[in-house]
Amino acid sequence: MTIPITVMKWAEHRLGREASTEADFTEAGLQMMGGCRGCGATLAAYNAYPSKSGYWACGDCISYDGFGSCEEAESWRAQDQREEEEELAADLALVGRFYV
Ligand SMILES: [Zn+2]
Repeated sequence: MTIPITVMKWAEHRLGREASTEADFTEAGLQMMGGCRGCGATLAAYNAYPSKSGYWACGDCISYDGFGSCEEAESWRAQDQREEEEELAADLALVGRFYV
């Protein structure tokens, strides 16, 4: 099994430089602090793994749900964003239909 990327690594990949401050993470579009979706442990970017559920996980809880590379994480994110936009568009269509 490949070691999954951390939030830190993903942020640095996005920025193309070191990520250390909260502003850096905000710029990268990622959270600097968070909790594990599995056990609730408090995590920081260097020991947190982004998972395909969209939530953070710690090293014990990430299992096979992590990303093997930043490129994989980016393509997952792009897909997830498209789905969010489609859902929003569908919601708006429903709202529109109500008034027809
Ligand atoms: Zn955990």
